[in-house]
Amino acid sequence: MNIILFGPPGAGKGTQAKELIKVFNIPQISTGDILREAIAKKTNLGMEAKKYMDLGNLVPDEVVVGLVEERLKEADCQNGYILDGFPRTVTQAEFLDKITNIDKVIALNVPNGEIVERITGRRTSKKTGKIYHIKYNPPVDENEEDLIQRDDDTEVAVIKRLENYDKQTLPVLAYYKKKNKTVIVDGTRNPMEITKELIEILGN
Ligand code: AMP
Repeated sequence: MNIILFGPPGAGKGTQAKELIKVFNIPQISTGDILREAIAKKTNLGMEAKKYMDLGNLVPDEVVVGLVEERLKEADCQNGYILDGFPRTVTQAEFLDKITNIDKVIALNVPNGEIVERITGRRTSKKTGKIYHIKYNPPVDENEEDLIQRDDDTEVAVIKRLENYDKQTLPVLAYYKKKNKTVIVDGTRNPMEITKELIEILGN
């Protein structure tokens, strides 16, 4: 089962992907995570990508499609995968169609007004990779989790990311709607409720 989790930054794609991979036993492929790993390792690709990411801009298509193409060749993708944060442009979606078959696109719908607060309060556990929110979903013990904030989770970068989402990424949804593969899910609800709905959709 090849799935795309679609939605604006902060819609809960990463949070949901982490639950779904346990249920369906397929990997999460997050281009954002792959790029952040490259930054952490200080590779040339990572350093180049960071310039775009910190400003809230998209990394050029040719860089990202190359990473995805390589990742999909790995053995753990044979029974399917969950793409999180890819494709983000129509060019990327067209490329994906050339190399694989997508079964379902799940779009998490969250209004832009809610996104800024979600993202600026978002923190990731350095220890477990789990995603928290300092106000709405804090960890039991903050020190224990060693929480970090992403460099691009600032208000200025988030506003830019939302602008870019509307301009460059929303057309991807229209692209998949034409193919009748898209299910739109209300992403403003409790994460557990959303997971339950996604499992039902994907189980059928
Ligand atoms: P994410 O973790 O999905 O929010 O991605 C963080 C940042 O990585 C984005 O704001 C982009 O700068 C970059 N990025 C991630 N995925 C893509 C993609 N598919 N195309 C272009 N840039 C991407």
